[in-house]
Amino acid sequence: MIATADEELEARIVRTADLLRGHRIALLTGAGISTDSGIPAYRGEGARTRSNPMTIDRYLGDEAARRRYWVGGHLGWRAFASAEPNAGHRALAGMEADGFVSGVITQNVDGLHLRAGSSHVIEVHGTMRRVFCLHCGQVFDRRDIAAQIEESNPWITVPENVRLAPDGDVLPESTDGFVTPVCTVCGGMLKPDVVFFGEYVPQDRFRAAESLLRASTAMIVAGSSLVVNSGVRLVERARRRGIPLVIVNHEPTRADAWADLTLAAGTSEVLPALHALLGAASNERTPTT
Ligand SMILES: [Zn+2]
Repeated sequence: MIATADEELEARIVRTADLLRGHRIALLTGAGISTDSGIPAYRGEGARTRSNPMTIDRYLGDEAARRRYWVGGHLGWRAFASAEPNAGHRALAGMEADGFVSGVITQNVDGLHLRAGSSHVIEVHGTMRRVFCLHCGQVFDRRDIAAQIEESNPWITVPENVRLAPDGDVLPESTDGFVTPVCTVCGGMLKPDVVFFGEYVPQDRFRAAESLLRASTAMIVAGSSLVVNSGVRLVERARRRGIPLVIVNHEPTRADAWADLTLAAGTSEVLPALHALLGAASNERTPTT
């Protein structure tokens, strides 16, 4: 008898639970865990993963590119702000509460792990929630910058003025008249607290991710194809220690050859099932008297 795709996946989830039972699991998550929350697989806000990445050099050197970035980023942020955590995020928060997961290292800037209730979260690529001044270092809440943008550019709040591309990208007809937000303290150039292409992950964040990994005895990569080097470097550390490694991702990743198990499936399907299996096993061990 030939197993169906569902049976095959179910069997792999059971094997994953058997492999990871009794371990303290570190998670590395990427865009794939947030697609079921309606967030397209962009690397950060407004910055397209492949076709049109915003590099730090373009951002700093090209005023028109910066304008387009803030328009796209603002519209994207408004869409992101209404997104809710999905079953995958919630499963990880529950697995942390139950002691199966040591923490989450995420490449996402959407803040959904924290909103789902995970408490140990390292946002290696930063977060959309914060904006800072490149000149004086002042940090701002993104909502205040959004208010500044809408005050200086009232047209941006009119839905008919922005065009929704088939791939979910939002762009207005023209960004020529857009007034870019500035630091309210010194008038300096602002930048969202997200890592652009051409930028390195800040060292303290990478070290925090490494130390979370050292305190863990297994690793799951969920929803990341490991295109970004910092992700691969973390998985390499796990491989060198020989700890169990599981990869849950629709597409093949750069580290599949190192994994004990790969599951080509969605994170909102796999992670809740894994949580249920790990939880069931620990209940069985609990004495009833
Ligand atoms: Zn400033």
